[in-house]
Amino acid sequence: MKLPKIVKRYCKKCKKHTEHSVKNQTFRGLNKKHTQSRGSQCRVRKRGLRRGFGNLGKFSRGALGGWKMSGKKQSKKTDLRYQCKECKKISVQRKGFRTKKIEFK
Ligand SMILES: [Zn+2]
Repeated sequence: MKLPKIVKRYCKKCKKHTEHSVKNQTFRGLNKKHTQSRGSQCRVRKRGLRRGFGNLGKFSRGALGGWKMSGKKQSKKTDLRYQCKECKKISVQRKGFRTKKIEFK
């Protein structure tokens, strides 16, 4: 999908329409390895789970396709950032949409 590099948008800080540069933010977010993220191993341990015996339900489930969401998605949601050229304030898009690829021109 092709998008323009510069758009005219309303800037909340300047309180008027100004030119904004557009950028797609790459996801740098949390995963289970991070100690602060919710599903991380050490936080789960602190809640008193994942201890003792048993197979944690790993071997008593049916076929993988039955209970787990299977199939990889072909596209990712966009996370566009708009930066005001006058005050440098960055604003985030309201709702991401799915695309395979994004090009700015
Ligand atoms: Zn501004």
